[in-house]
Amino acid sequence: MSIEPGTLYVVATPIGNLADLSPRALDTLRAVSAVAAEDTRHTAVLLRHYGVQTPTVSLHEHNERQVVPRLVARLRAGEALALVSDAGTPLVSDPGRILVSEARSAGVPVRPVPGPSALPAALSVAGFAADRFVFEGFLPSRGAARRARLQALAGEDRTLVFYEAPHRIRESLRDLREVFGPGRQGLLARELTKVFEETHRATLAELEEWVAERPERERGELVIVVEGREPTPAEDVGPDDDRVLRVLLKELPASTAATLAAQLTGKPRRALYARAVELSGEG
Ligand code: SAM
Repeated sequence: MSIEPGTLYVVATPIGNLADLSPRALDTLRAVSAVAAEDTRHTAVLLRHYGVQTPTVSLHEHNERQVVPRLVARLRAGEALALVSDAGTPLVSDPGRILVSEARSAGVPVRPVPGPSALPAALSVAGFAADRFVFEGFLPSRGAARRARLQALAGEDRTLVFYEAPHRIRESLRDLREVFGPGRQGLLARELTKVFEETHRATLAELEEWVAERPERERGELVIVVEGREPTPAEDVGPDDDRVLRVLLKELPASTAATLAAQLTGKPRRALYARAVELSGEG
């Protein structure tokens, strides 16, 4: 494969199963002059597995500001470099933002070599709406801050995705149940692509019980996916919204009327669409 000189390649690496490294990612890691890695020992395991001998450079959140100027200088001098994190896609809840940002500011081409990430992997097996979703990364570790964040998200009608550390999973599920309600649907994805992969979809109350059933469920790597709030039309759509919808429905189909009404009223499109269908039926 041809590697462009003076280019930063942002390379996604496996989130568990080493076979998930793409052929293009492998070629890139072989061809660049150095791989900037979050943990060089961790990346060494991957490189050794594939017989890649490219040298690594340590780049993590504590040294990024010091190391980046040197890496950008190498890029500007014409070297091709790769950026990887411990697992998955760099910058997605992982280091690399400063390098990418500084490389761009210096006019260095930055190219993605896409691949694994726990976020789309979990979303792809949840079966919740994923045409629009909210990725919240890690919730705050302190209880009060975590609950405040969840309160702010309780009305969100898009699917929500959280990363969570195993030692906090029970507290987070408890707070999710208390703030979002026990009947909200969620999915817990554990150890994706690894030997003990488990995914379980149930209500938030049931997910809490499912985790409590086996101690190993409080270990490993976890993603929580929560279905967005189902709007209750009676609560969300009032007489003012009905007036807007009736005007729009004179000229437009329910779907377009709902989209425009959502922009005009700020109300969730899903609720407005449900009401638009009801009003069209009345007409
Ligand atoms: N950059 C990574 C990505 O693209 O997914 C995420 C890095 S973040 C520091 C690590 C978190 O990602 C874990 O705490 C967990 O929430 C999630 N994660 C990573 N690998 C996972 C896996 N195999 N199964 C489930 N969750 C995973």
